[in-house]
Amino acid sequence: MKVAIMAAGLSGLACAITLEKFGIEPAIFEKRSCVGDRFVNGEILFSLVTRPIQDCIAYLSEKHGIYLHPAANLQKMTLYSPREQAFFEGHLGFTNVRGRESDGFEAQLSRQVRSPIQFHSEETYEGLLSHYTHMVMATGDGDYAKKTRNFREDLTVSLRGATVEGSFDRYAVAAWLDNDLAPSGYAFCIPLSDTEATIVIAYPDDPHREPPDPELLWDRFYERARSDLKQPLRITDQFQITHYPIGICRSARIGNTFYVGNCFGSLMPYLGFGQFSALLTGIYAAMDLAGEGNYEELTAPLRQSYEDSLVLRRTLERLDNSDYDRIVHLLRLGSRLIENEKINPLKTASFLLRPYVKWKQGVTS
Ligand SMILES: Cc1cc2nc3c(=O)[nH]c(=O)nc-3n(C[C@H](O)[C@H](O)[C@H](O)COP(=O)(O)OP(=O)(O)OC[C@H]3O[C@@H](n4cnc5c(N)ncnc54)[C@H](O)[C@@H]3O)c2cc1C
Repeated sequence: MKVAIMAAGLSGLACAITLEKFGIEPAIFEKRSCVGDRFVNGEILFSLVTRPIQDCIAYLSEKHGIYLHPAANLQKMTLYSPREQAFFEGHLGFTNVRGRESDGFEAQLSRQVRSPIQFHSEETYEGLLSHYTHMVMATGDGDYAKKTRNFREDLTVSLRGATVEGSFDRYAVAAWLDNDLAPSGYAFCIPLSDTEATIVIAYPDDPHREPPDPELLWDRFYERARSDLKQPLRITDQFQITHYPIGICRSARIGNTFYVGNCFGSLMPYLGFGQFSALLTGIYAAMDLAGEGNYEELTAPLRQSYEDSLVLRRTLERLDNSDYDRIVHLLRLGSRLIENEKINPLKTASFLLRPYVKWKQGVTS
């Protein structure tokens, strides 16, 4: 068996580490000059979305021998709508660093890989196919799956973010639900350390509406973040991504090609969380290749989470700012429920919101 992994991001590296544990040495092809060769940003591993797994860092090490150090364990979250705010406390998950940093998740994973990584790769799927018996597609998008008509793209998202200097509680994040800042999307402030944070807005591209002015949204959000966080937030770096595809492949495996990470459909349509699922798909593909499981079956719960999250996204796209105020107000009253580790808040929220949105549709149609 000769396995090629196309790309050394989260899912590709998790796949390589797991294959090596089973005695298979893959060849890894990465188009960039080193692992994590992109802007630095903070991301979140939210236990709210990985439940029933409450501690995904411990789960990855104990169950799969993959060792990651987060930036911090997340203890607090403040959620802002235009006029309300709610506050959550407890073990909410972890924050971590991505991109060009020695502590970035990509760098941490690559230190656990022994197989050679070929950087600056210009290899194509078709080219690699003639030399390898099995292919793992881990390029972070649905491009190759789309080419073979194996990808259902559900939406694209535009993101704009910055690294800012200030004074932060590294165990706390802030989030905003406000259509004036990120229409049908969200904004976050995620500390990288006590003195640096990522601030970011992300919103779906709506093909049926005039696109919002990204500069205007960013200026509004920057002002709002400075006001809510009560500090000037000096910008030291900026990034922008347009039309980041979110979708899911129809088959997780076709022939001897495995689709992992975002190529599988790791990116959850509602809030764009995808890291944990990306790592799991890489691990599961390797398990299948090593004869330790069936990839389609192992990924079935991830596929279900994707579809649940899509329902929530489509539902929440109908909400206006006064709805957000009501929801955040209710969440404030129900914060104990969210903090309860036995409850899956996204599933519960999607269940509770549906009748309200139906009623809303009736009022506005
Ligand atoms: C700005 C931003 C913020 C995010 N925030 C969060 C968050 O807070 N929480 C969360 O859970 N998720 C978040 N996500 C999503 C999460 O980062 C992704 O779901 C996850 O990284 C997907 O892993 P992957 O392995 O599919 O792709 P990646 O980790 O992105 O890796 C893809 C790799 O493919 C390489 N590549 C691309 N094309 C080729 C090619 N043709 N040949 C070889 N190599 C190629 C790239 O260089 C890269 O190294 C965020 C994403 C972005 C962009």
